[in-house]
Amino acid sequence: MYFFKNKSGLLILLLIIPFVWTCKQDTQWKGQGPIKKVSTETVPIQLQYKGVFDLGDGVFISNDYDGARLNGVARINDTLISVLITPENSPINMSPWYGFKIWSELEKNIAVKLTYAENAYNRYYPKISKDGSNWEAIDSSKYQVVMENRDGDAVPANLTMQISVSTDTTWISAQELITVSEVNGWMDELLSNSFVSKSIIGRSRDGRPINLLKIGESDDQKMIIVLSRQHPPEVTGFLAMESFIETICTDIEIAKKFRAEYNVYVVPMINPDGVSKGHWRHNSGGVDLNRDWESFNQPETSAIRDFMKQKVTQTGGVFYFGIDFHSTSEDIFYTNSSEQNVNMPGLVIKLIDAVGNEFPNYTPNVRPSTETGTMITSTSFIFYEYGAEALTYEVGDNTPREFVNKKGEVTALKLMELMTK
Ligand SMILES: [Zn+2]
Repeated sequence: MYFFKNKSGLLILLLIIPFVWTCKQDTQWKGQGPIKKVSTETVPIQLQYKGVFDLGDGVFISNDYDGARLNGVARINDTLISVLITPENSPINMSPWYGFKIWSELEKNIAVKLTYAENAYNRYYPKISKDGSNWEAIDSSKYQVVMENRDGDAVPANLTMQISVSTDTTWISAQELITVSEVNGWMDELLSNSFVSKSIIGRSRDGRPINLLKIGESDDQKMIIVLSRQHPPEVTGFLAMESFIETICTDIEIAKKFRAEYNVYVVPMINPDGVSKGHWRHNSGGVDLNRDWESFNQPETSAIRDFMKQKVTQTGGVFYFGIDFHSTSEDIFYTNSSEQNVNMPGLVIKLIDAVGNEFPNYTPNVRPSTETGTMITSTSFIFYEYGAEALTYEVGDNTPREFVNKKGEVTALKLMELMTK
């Protein structure tokens, strides 16, 4: 009440309110650090030697398949094998992907130690499979992680897992192995819907097709773009994208209405070379594709840029929304600056709120980009070049897969509701 005794008191109060409000906003909406612009000119990558390694005593290990990564192996003793995991080139983001198959003529228990090159450390906890397609996480009692102090931070420097091996092959992988051919199979299933079609919009550096799905029966005046797998190991993001797209393809009324009004263009696998070669992050040009959306030095990003440009030129249509699926340590929504004039203002924030409201114990973690106008990542390109509301949808590496699927589904449902209002 003291403040209201005179006019200057009231003025002070009026000055304090917005200050407190701004601070509250700052604590709620943590901005990510600026994404650094880096060169995206092609550089050489280190190829893996592919083959079956005979470890003696009837034990064999192989990296001779799509998506594998194992750069060296040594038998330390009867019961311990050490595998070396190195990146395709460096500098590189710390997301060491690994994948190999192991079998033994005699049934036995064996320890496999993951050793990382240079300063790398463990990101992914091992998954195991007996057929290469059905995966489960190895029980945490079956592996040990050695922590090391690096520049003041404790990091998981290496990991040793206990596995039982036999003539039946055991597959070990950083995350569920979802290869180019599995993604092709998923696309083929969707093609059984009359409103889905597929085309090739370009080729990767190694010549693999960059496939595009078209979902919808509209006249292309309203469009959305969906991207996935710029970063090969980011499988949880891919799983969310699958669930998101499958929901848009269902028979429910809102989906039918949405598909009559909008066409959805999907590039489910932007980096097929990186996925096939078991890369940590880059394409065959040794480049992080999600830093190439301004320079367009790589064929994968250029294919999408050219497709979007051609579409708008041919049809006069508008992109209203873009979403790019990734994975990181936790579930995060990276958004763009809210000050830009866009085609459907406020859509992304409304969408995130609506998704959050569907899950009682879940508060969405939102991080608006602090940059304005810089096009380094896919979503900043979509936002600034086309005025489409755009969202980088990050899924935690260890987020339970059931929740990943459910949230992907709810995101699609809420988006369709909001965009057809
Ligand atoms: Zn990513």
